[in-house]
Amino acid sequence: MKILVINAGSSSLKYQLIDMETEAVLAKGACERIGIPGSKLTHKVSGKEDFVKETPIPEHKVAVELVMEALIDADHGVIKSTDEIDAVGHRVLHGGTVYCDSIVVNEDVKRIIREYFDLGPLHNPANLTGIEACEAAMPGKANVAVFDTAFGMAMPEKAYTYAIPHEYLEKYSIRRYGFHGTSHNFVSHEAIQFGALGDNAKVIVCHLGNGASISASIGGKCVDTSMGLTPLEGLIMGSRSGDIDPAVAQYICNKEGKDINEVLNIFNKQSGILGMSGGISTDFRDVQKAADEGNHLAKVALDAFAYRVAKYIGAYTAAMNGVDAIVFTAGVGENDARMRGQIMEYMGYLGAAIDEDINKASRGKEAVISTADSKVKVMVIPTNEELMIARDTANLTANL
Ligand code: AMP
Repeated sequence: MKILVINAGSSSLKYQLIDMETEAVLAKGACERIGIPGSKLTHKVSGKEDFVKETPIPEHKVAVELVMEALIDADHGVIKSTDEIDAVGHRVLHGGTVYCDSIVVNEDVKRIIREYFDLGPLHNPANLTGIEACEAAMPGKANVAVFDTAFGMAMPEKAYTYAIPHEYLEKYSIRRYGFHGTSHNFVSHEAIQFGALGDNAKVIVCHLGNGASISASIGGKCVDTSMGLTPLEGLIMGSRSGDIDPAVAQYICNKEGKDINEVLNIFNKQSGILGMSGGISTDFRDVQKAADEGNHLAKVALDAFAYRVAKYIGAYTAAMNGVDAIVFTAGVGENDARMRGQIMEYMGYLGAAIDEDINKASRGKEAVISTADSKVKVMVIPTNEELMIARDTANLTANL
């Protein structure tokens, strides 16, 4: 069985073709600058040189057609015909309160994705465009929507409800949803398997990348997660503030004559380690280099990042009345042994300890980095959202 995974953005379309027997990526790539001058397709097949086609891509349907052409091309293709693609899985940001699981797309599903344009204004319209482009380019092929909010839908009411007047939940569905759900779902389940943790394991997944979030789950079922109505809540991120007193927004508005949208833009795009470090970078490597060279703000930004993660781990341990495993994933979590070490320094009270040599040697591959006598297993598990989307798609369409 072969599954095509599509992640459509407003001007981009990323794809992977995955063979489900081996879970190997047969080909992957991206169309960039859709609808903008200078558009191109980059197609990658392992062991071959990248194929790049610079050509106008006025809309997503043309992008999907180019992907199809590349996949069946005699030189750089990996299949003979698109008939070999069994189904298409789509990353969709927001399923609102309706979807707590992936689903085969029909007109109702598209209507709901459209209904939640307000809650995912940058992503949901693009995700729907990607689905419709595949329907047009490959009529009759099953499409599956995999929602980034689905994992968080298992949160209990006490975790997802904001302490604001109830009418806002009723009228506008204002509540915590959580994002990076596909990653948290994948990593928490992989951790249970890889760490031989047992079916009801209490797992905290730290997804630390440019966007950062943390989840608590029991047996792979979400108990709490740090992002909220939008991805702004929770941890400090590359350029997002994470948790902040909302009155700060009003104060900046009043002092600088800005409106709320401008300040929210600052919280989303100019804050986090970028803002705290005085504008050095959203990239942890740059901020770390500056800190090593004696830049005080860079050091404070990294210290604050680690401190915030540690506080959440404490809170989630309390929420679950214990923790069996703490798992690191995404760009920083998978690669940055120093940041993992810095966070784990706070975990002495849990009896959790990491083996520094193993920690330093673990980069981008599954590993248990805790000591043999650590009371909590600490792991690195690389995230793989595309594989999670492909697995859900294969499961839902196997008997269609
Ligand atoms: P992601 O959003 O998961 O793709 O993560 C991207 C971020 O991971 C980058 O912005 C970097 O800050 C960070 N990153 C990647 N590799 C390393 C590394 N070796 N050390 C520290 N940070 C890294």
